[in-house]
Amino acid sequence: MTNTTLPAASAAGRSFNELPLSPGMQSTLQQLGYLSMTPIQAASLPIALAGHDLIAQAKTGSGKTAAFALALLTRLNPRRFAVQAMVLCPTRELADQVTQEIRRLARSADNIKILTLCGGSIMRTQTTSLEHGAHIVVGTPGRIMDHMERGTLNLEALNTLVLDEADRMLDMGFVDDIAYVAKRCPTDRQTLLFSATYPSGIERLARQFMRDPREVKLTERHEETKIRQRFYKVDDEHRLQAVGLLLKHYRPVSTLAFCNTKQQCRSLLEVLHAQGIKALTLNGDMEQRERDQVLIQFANRSCSVLVATDVAARGLDIAQLEAVINVDVTPDPEVHIHRIGRTGRADENGWALNLCGPTDRNRIIGIAQMMRIEPEWHELGELKDEDSSPLVPPMVTLQILGGRKEKIRAGDVLGALTGELGYAREQVGKITVTDQSTYVAVARNIAVDAVRKLSAGKVKGKTVKVRAL
Ligand code: ADP
Ligand code: MG
Repeated sequence: MTNTTLPAASAAGRSFNELPLSPGMQSTLQQLGYLSMTPIQAASLPIALAGHDLIAQAKTGSGKTAAFALALLTRLNPRRFAVQAMVLCPTRELADQVTQEIRRLARSADNIKILTLCGGSIMRTQTTSLEHGAHIVVGTPGRIMDHMERGTLNLEALNTLVLDEADRMLDMGFVDDIAYVAKRCPTDRQTLLFSATYPSGIERLARQFMRDPREVKLTERHEETKIRQRFYKVDDEHRLQAVGLLLKHYRPVSTLAFCNTKQQCRSLLEVLHAQGIKALTLNGDMEQRERDQVLIQFANRSCSVLVATDVAARGLDIAQLEAVINVDVTPDPEVHIHRIGRTGRADENGWALNLCGPTDRNRIIGIAQMMRIEPEWHELGELKDEDSSPLVPPMVTLQILGGRKEKIRAGDVLGALTGELGYAREQVGKITVTDQSTYVAVARNIAVDAVRKLSAGKVKGKTVKVRAL
């Protein structure tokens, strides 16, 4: 194996022009505002485009999706109606995010069909879509295996296999499923493995079915200037109440609050709700639609706090996170670094706030050693609720019944709101179209009015049902 471990900075800021990409792809990248490669893209794309197998590790949010998407799209022949690339992801949310990113990047090429194959959706519908032909398949290992066993997914023409979030797939016990799938793909394919961390299981997995993989690891150290980290002493009885104090003092618009257990997540949610804070949680027992709604509300800034365990939160691409609160300190310093790396992305500053009980001392020592920092200790007593107005999210999510199945597009909803209904573009936030529903974030002060007017008016010539979540 060829190993490359790079400090992130050495590969940063290089132009996509250096790469052998089509002019159409170059202009798509420009339109998307991808002006230069992220470090992991700069390090991995030349290898992937040259056709080598690759193991690439870089933290969440570093642009790994485009790194493999550009490689598989470059090799794709749109005139050949067969599955030529397949991406395995740990969860449906991640598969949806990957599908969206590939769609965005594929828009200069004509008619590339991408199918998402995950559990929780009806098998038959997927089978019918497969019969109509797909170029790229993105899905979870279990469902992809189902299709392979039933003979509804033909992989004879496959030339690129991607394992995305491989560490998380290992955590979730997908190791045998992945091996099953990989061993049944054509042997002369390229395999690309992407991961946020590098547990030992990855190498064992890779050895089973990758061919002389090159390795790229980005040891990206968080710039302390962007993430401002503070440690607050707390005793266990006041831990959950203290979260509200932090929120009211720092007033972040979006906060990810990490707990070590599901039970703690539930308890925190109750405490925050009692304090009038709009908080939601993600857990494995939720139905897919509920999970989608939680993520949509958090991403479009209509929910202040997302409460989650590490398992529930990993891999989620959430931009604009002002704060991460470690309600419980994790015993694993690497997990800690990963948690707080969700804030302070790009040019934004972020807060990493930690609640530390007497029994957390050793954990903090471990974290401080690994991060080479001197912990900045603070007392909860310093927190002032200066601005005593309640912490409310700036946006409200409206759910419109009707989505992709009804051929509703984001533009139709934006058009209805800013056209006939006369709202300003700035009053409308993120619009997300799912199969059955469309979600649109609107400024809080127009929400009630917008529900009324949308229900009375029409979207794409049809009357629609609308409610505020
Ligand atoms: P990862 O898979 O490493 O967690 P993603 O692929 O989800 O990261 O990318 C994180 C965000 O960065 C996405 O919103 C994506 O659109 C954006 N992004 C990716 N590449 C670039 C680039 N070269 N320039 C600007 N933004 C980018
Ligand atoms: Mg990713």
